[in-house]
Amino acid sequence: MRIVSSASECIPIALGNPDRQVVFMGIGFETTTPTIASMVKTCKVRGIGNVTVFSAHKVIPPAISALLDDRDLAIDAFLCPGHVSTITGTAAYGEIPARGCAAVITGFEPVDILEGIYMILGQILKHDYSVEIQYTRGVSPQGNVKAKGLIEEVFTPVDARWRGLGVIPGSGLEFRDEYREFDARTRFEIPEIDSREPAGCRCGEVLKGIIRPSDCPLFRHACTPDSPVGPCMVSQEGTCQAYYKCS
Ligand code: SF4
Repeated sequence: MRIVSSASECIPIALGNPDRQVVFMGIGFETTTPTIASMVKTCKVRGIGNVTVFSAHKVIPPAISALLDDRDLAIDAFLCPGHVSTITGTAAYGEIPARGCAAVITGFEPVDILEGIYMILGQILKHDYSVEIQYTRGVSPQGNVKAKGLIEEVFTPVDARWRGLGVIPGSGLEFRDEYREFDARTRFEIPEIDSREPAGCRCGEVLKGIIRPSDCPLFRHACTPDSPVGPCMVSQEGTCQAYYKCS
């Protein structure tokens, strides 16, 4: 197993090891998927046949629909992620104002978040809902058209399971038939992976905002950043790890 900083690094590795198979773990949202689609397209054009991708990509809009559909949540507003939105633009969030909720795309600096909340409150006070962009230094309404085109060319939506949330229709990406040769699942006939939630982990409720991480009995005890039990504690972007470090 090798750690790479870009999917494109698979190409020199594959060219340097023509008798070996290179499988790239394709994980991430709209932010990372275009670079992987670009790498796959390059392999196709150059006839590089010993690269495949294990696609575990996810897309944002179906997850938002699932949250809006959840009657237990009664969400008032979404702070939409700036990094994903550099690719998607505002269109990915169109369902939010249509269903009477506020939506603001923000950056990740504290002042970005504060201004995003301020803009959300403005929408709620006026009962005038739209997808506003606070993170104008990174996001345009149309997003990155070329990157979206790459995703569309290489991948097609498929139902996908989310840790803690279950299966969300159309929320994953699999290879289109034209690029199926790069699908690691197909080439190596990998069976469906039976993903189970860790016993006692309440990541689903944390992700939905139903409970705080500290409401989970495992928080700070059995579950820490050095010894994570659930996915929310694994990465620096995980809600439980952020709460662990900042509370
Ligand atoms: S503290 Fe750990 S076990 Fe509890 S919800 Fe968070 S990640 Fe899951």
